[in-house]
Parts: sequence; C-alpha cells; structure tokens
Amino acid sequence: MTLQLVMRSVMTMVMIALAGLILWRWQINGWGSIVWLASAIIMMLIRSPYAARNKENVITEQFAVSKERVLLFLVSVGGTLLPVLHLSTGLLLFADYEAPNWLPVIGILFLVPGFWLFWRSHADLGQNWSVTTELREAHTLVSNGVYKHIRHPMYSAIWLIFLSYPFLIQNWIVGSTGLVSFAIMYAVRVPIEEAMMRQEFGIEYEDYSSRTERLWPQRSK
Ligand code: SAH
Repeated sequence: MTLQLVMRSVMTMVMIALAGLILWRWQINGWGSIVWLASAIIMMLIRSPYAARNKENVITEQFAVSKERVLLFLVSVGGTLLPVLHLSTGLLLFADYEAPNWLPVIGILFLVPGFWLFWRSHADLGQNWSVTTELREAHTLVSNGVYKHIRHPMYSAIWLIFLSYPFLIQNWIVGSTGLVSFAIMYAVRVPIEEAMMRQEFGIEYEDYSSRTERLWPQRSK
C-alpha cells in the first residue's frame, strides 16, 4: 500500500466520521445542516468525474500560482473546513442564532439552479476545465451551452451555492465565511483569468466578451 493510498483512506474515514457527527447533531444545528452536508457531497459528486477525466491533461501555462494557492486555501477554510468543524463539534456555538424552521427552504431555492449550472459548466468546458487558472494543451475557447451568454457560469453556480449557506447554517460566522472567501477569490481571480484568455485567444475572446456578461445574462446580449 503506498503512502498516498494510506493518506487517502485515512482522509476518507475522517470525512465519514465528520459527516456522521454532523448528522448526529442535526437537532442542535437544525435540518438546514443536513441540506448543507448533502450540498457539499453533491458538489463533490458533480465535480469528481470531470476531475478524474482531466487528470491526464497537459498543462502548458499556469498563472498567479502562489496567489491561487492562498485563494484556494481561503475558500476551502471558509466554505468547507469551518462549516464542517462547527457543525460537527459546535466550535462556534456562541454565534448561533434562532431562525424560523422554514429558512433552509430559501437555501434550497438557491441550491437547485446552482447545482444545475455547476454540472452544465463542467460538462460544457470539458477538457478545458481546471481548478486553478491555467491553459491546457489544445485548449479551445468554449462559447456554447451555458457559456453562450455568460463567461463565468461556474462562478455563478458557486455564488448561488454559497448564497444558500446563510439560510442553511444558523450561525453568524460560519453561515457567511464561504461567501466572503469566495467574494475575495472572485475579485482577484476573474481579472487574471480574463487577461489569460485574452492573451491566448486574442480577438476571438474580445468578440466573445463583447457579446457576453460575466455572471448573469442580459436580454440585449
Ligand atoms: N470562469 C469560468 C471557468 C472556471 S474553470 C466559469 O466560471 O465558468 C477555470 C479555467 O477554465 C481557467 O483556468 C480557463 O483555463 C478555463 N476557461 C475559462 N473560461 C473558458 C472558456 N470560455 N473556454 C475555455 N476555457 C475556459
């Protein structure tokens, strides 16, 4: 058994144990916490086949590598680690608040289109998708499917998913750390990513940008 396999097995067991703790504590955290857990698992399930498929891709250029590392770390902590720690142990119980029992329903209304868009953007980007800002061998400019009217549907999806968290997790801190960390990532990454695409695809990307919006389609475009 390689070290990597051992690490992966340990990680999987830790994740299962934490998920079990979250389920066990649902009456303390509210039923929104079960929806939150399901949403984290669904996102992983949507992404994993594309991640596995793109593993063999050859990267030709990477941009803002150290910045990307910091941003990904920030979003992992704010969007996953803190919610998991709080929901499984009550770490930030002092910031919990009482909320009406129906509040998570609003979260679900954000999640459903969020998941659809998350799935479609992975499917439409295909081999061109990557977690960080980089170019692949034989990178093509995708401008169809959910990319027809907006340039960043995957980020729209992540906005929708993180917007659901304050309605699912009744805690002033943990409910919003995903949103705050992603807002920082979005603000830093999008200009870098667009500059990279412009450099690679030139006029083709200029044309594409002129007929699309970043996150939300407009009628006139
Ligand atoms: N910002 C996009 C993609 C996120 S994935 C979205 O929100 O949907 C990030 C990677 O996707 C970038 O590193 C870039 O290589 C690639 N990418 C972004 N837009 C693309 C497009 N229109 N066509 C092809 N690749 C794209």
